[in-house]
Amino acid sequence: MSFFDRFRKKKKDAPVAKEAKKSAASAPVASGVVCKTKTPESIEANYMHAADLGELLPGAPPNGKIKLAIYWAAACGGCDVSLLDTNERILTIGDMADIVMWPIAVDGKEKDIAEMEDGSITVAIISGAIRNSENEHMAKLLRQKSQIMVSYGSCACFGGSPALANLVAGGSKELLDYAYQKVPSTSSFQADYHPDAPVMPQTSYAAPEGELTLPVIYDRVKTLDQTVDVDYFVPGCPPLQETISHMLKAFVDFVYHGVPLPPKGTQIGVTTSSLCDQCPRTKEYRRITEIKEPFQVDVDPDLCLLDQGILCLGPATVGGCNARCTIAGQPCRGCYGPTKAVQEHGASALTAIASLFPVLEDDGIIGEDKIMDIMSTIKDPLGYFYAFTMAKSLIKVAVNEKGGQ
Ligand code: SF4
Ligand code: SF4
Ligand code: SF4
Repeated sequence: MSFFDRFRKKKKDAPVAKEAKKSAASAPVASGVVCKTKTPESIEANYMHAADLGELLPGAPPNGKIKLAIYWAAACGGCDVSLLDTNERILTIGDMADIVMWPIAVDGKEKDIAEMEDGSITVAIISGAIRNSENEHMAKLLRQKSQIMVSYGSCACFGGSPALANLVAGGSKELLDYAYQKVPSTSSFQADYHPDAPVMPQTSYAAPEGELTLPVIYDRVKTLDQTVDVDYFVPGCPPLQETISHMLKAFVDFVYHGVPLPPKGTQIGVTTSSLCDQCPRTKEYRRITEIKEPFQVDVDPDLCLLDQGILCLGPATVGGCNARCTIAGQPCRGCYGPTKAVQEHGASALTAIASLFPVLEDDGIIGEDKIMDIMSTIKDPLGYFYAFTMAKSLIKVAVNEKGGQ
């Protein structure tokens, strides 16, 4: 049974949310827009099937094992776990590659990498954003030592959640002040134990045993490709197994069968259109007069979430995850990043949503005040529209009134 068949069965078996249907049905449809009903065939055509990786234990490659480094920069560890989640396919990785560094799973050290010949690592997979001097140093070192570099996960590709800190005017000083002095737990700690001079992290400390150092936190979080040259991008927070299978297949085909790798710059494991084309919910382009949280709505299992007033970034987000969240009744937050045609993920999402506001005369509700009323129902708009892509956005950082970060 295909994924889509499973979803259709679930919907058929699910009790219909009558009140939600009634209220959604009463919302006006955008004038001049022909309602579009997606077909199972069109959704199936956009479905991202997992790549067939062939024999589970193919043995060592004909030209010997490749060398693989996996590293996390400013990351939560979820991307590493997604690689471990490949289950028995981890054996294929083990057959194909010697893992020379993987902080979460293998005991490789920075000095071991530094001693290797330049270009002697075949593939480096890096997750996480570039937040501090250690992240930057490791990204540059691995770039120097590796033939192929993969930006893995949304933090590495777009800045991810760490880059939301770019919205704090005042840069790293303000961030450290906030974390070490202003949040309730640290402020009470400082008041109790260091009332005269709060203890703050130092980048260097002369201990009796020698100098201790910590990385320098940067004012602005960057993506991996804003720091070093990147060959491939694998988005997702974290990338899903279907997506990972396409990355692994590219390497397996290359290493075992001599198949050329995809062109440099390829985003691996995504479709050519938006998430909406993978989403089985019916889109009717209903007018939005209020933005609601999912818990405020008795969610209709069939209807587009935007049609129900729930903020969904599907129209601006590239397909690849097979609409994991929207099928479960949760809106897309955009973790796969924008489609290829879009530079500004947040602005594109905002445009798609604004096009559903009742601004035409036929809608009977017009005027700037009303638009502002609707907009004001969006809680934390920057945090919502740029949850994953702030470092790649045109905004990039917040500045204070004097123009400083
Ligand atoms: S992309 Fe998501 S899962 Fe990966 S490191 Fe960032 S926050 Fe964690
Ligand atoms: S806006 Fe969201 S819920 Fe609606 S069709 Fe697109 S992805 Fe699905
Ligand atoms: S639906 Fe959106 S937020 Fe959820 S996994 Fe897919 S791209 Fe990410």
